[in-house]
Amino acid sequence: MKSLRALQELVFPVRCLGCSALGLDICSSCRKNWHPHIYRTWSTSAPHFPIYSAISYSPLAGKIILAAKENGILRAENLISDALSHSLAICMKEQGLGFLIPIPSRKSVARARGRQFIYDLSAGLATEFKISSFEILSHVRKVKDQSTLDAHARRINLHGALHASKYLRGRAILIDDLVTTGATLAEAARALRACGIEVAAAVTACVAEPLR
Ligand SMILES: [Zn+2]
Repeated sequence: MKSLRALQELVFPVRCLGCSALGLDICSSCRKNWHPHIYRTWSTSAPHFPIYSAISYSPLAGKIILAAKENGILRAENLISDALSHSLAICMKEQGLGFLIPIPSRKSVARARGRQFIYDLSAGLATEFKISSFEILSHVRKVKDQSTLDAHARRINLHGALHASKYLRGRAILIDDLVTTGATLAEAARALRACGIEVAAAVTACVAEPLR
């Protein structure tokens, strides 16, 4: 699947993922909105932990995440992977070592895409940083699509939605592509704590406005 995608990208000329201009993955004018930096925020509800992100969310970031997740475009996935790697390097420098726990998508969404997108990214980070990635979180009940819900509604929608299947000793670093209100990260931390695992930090590629 991956090699087929790589082949398609060889045959079809590269276009900017933001504005479709020919030439680069991101053209110089769109690059202004995708420039890995570091944003440190805090989880909005207990347990409190720092969240490290590389990119401030913009319509361009939305297009790149969508291209990677829904269309499996490798160039887009590599940009997200680089952003995560940038955030994780700074997180580990400031917070110390830990193991990674990726936050899965809803089962129906993962089924439609044919994979848990974030698992692949987290496994790649684990190899790069020589640490472990544990896929121990899963959704145990149905939740609504979150995109139109506010922070409070998201917390209610998500409470009790995740379950951790394993006890691990050590410090967990949560991995996700985007943090908006922090409700998903908070629910993941709750589920892990119920299993005896403390979250030391979270790392995301992008951070959206409400949290910043
Ligand atoms: Zn562009």
